[in-house]
Amino acid sequence: MIPSDNPFLALAAPGIAGLTPYVPGKPVSELERELGIAGSIKLASNENPLGPGPLARAAIAARLNELGRYPDGGGFELRRVLAEHHDISPQCVTLGNGSNDVLDLVARVFLQPGTESLFSEHAFAVYPIATQAVGASARVAPARDQGHDLEAMADLVSDRTRVVWIANPNNPTGTWLPSGPLQAFIESLPETCVAVVDEAYTEYVDEPGFPDATHWIGTYPNLIVTRTFSKAHGLAALRVGYALSDPRVADLLNRVRQPFNVNSLAQAAAAAAIGDRDHVRASVELNRAGMGQLTAAFDALGLAYIPSAGNFVSVDLARPAGPVNDGLLRLGVIVRPIANYGLPNHLRISIGLPEENTRFIEALRTLIAT
Ligand code: PMP
Repeated sequence: MIPSDNPFLALAAPGIAGLTPYVPGKPVSELERELGIAGSIKLASNENPLGPGPLARAAIAARLNELGRYPDGGGFELRRVLAEHHDISPQCVTLGNGSNDVLDLVARVFLQPGTESLFSEHAFAVYPIATQAVGASARVAPARDQGHDLEAMADLVSDRTRVVWIANPNNPTGTWLPSGPLQAFIESLPETCVAVVDEAYTEYVDEPGFPDATHWIGTYPNLIVTRTFSKAHGLAALRVGYALSDPRVADLLNRVRQPFNVNSLAQAAAAAAIGDRDHVRASVELNRAGMGQLTAAFDALGLAYIPSAGNFVSVDLARPAGPVNDGLLRLGVIVRPIANYGLPNHLRISIGLPEENTRFIEALRTLIAT
């Protein structure tokens, strides 16, 4: 632990002193080290339990003998493939070391002390962190039914607002916004502010009226859409994501991007994965079945949950979730408490393999029966 009287705090850039770092899901190895147990499972980071598909695996293997060389700093081939996939110019693509990296690039380009970013209550935790890290202020709109309330958000847009962050669907709630209202909201924003639509979980959504915001890039020059290979494509460890935007916005994002922010294996794997429709389909189907398995179990246990369009679901334990989470950890099951998202009675469970879901359900049943 670093002592709180750390003298370097006074030297840090504005915002850093009060910054609380992102808390990732606990790794299996850490839990097993702490408790001296084996055979744990992790349903805590919204990963794809199938991992990468065969095309991505082959692309990675084919690049292993190039690891002594720097990656293509401009990501030419991956940007070309992504541009083709989205029927857009490669100049619209900004690559990131995960989409988290792209969110940071947006903050570095558009936010500074004296400006504001805006997001919803219960929105993805990186938005406040990216905002504070560059010394800007966060405005948080109250949620409606645990999801984004676009009217409440519109009320908080000011002449200091430079970035509005919207995850669709949102993590950790899994709530989503339909096309009409989201497009109207983006259209209503002043030119002095960019809208980030974070589509990390888009592949999983099977809802009528769910938008693909990438189709709006040509219409709204202040729109940035982010995507990731960490979820449905199963490449979380390689860290690769991207933004699509107007080329003039992409130009600015690329000015602050580290030259080699996406490694060679990630570039090759992502370029192969984007075309692996079979793997995405299999991943989405597995997710749908697992979501059914978990929600049926919650219904049987009399537990409410937030209906989710993503690869995770947040269940309401109707009591503080901390002790149940501790009990799950002792049984070797890692899920995610979300008190830091303003949901202290909820646990977020990522959909796993059928047997992992069963193991979680059995553990939960044991704990809440006692
Ligand atoms: N956006 C949302 C909504 C997320 O939940 C996550 C991952 N938890 C990310 C972005 C970032 O993912 P990555 O950096 O792996 O692309």
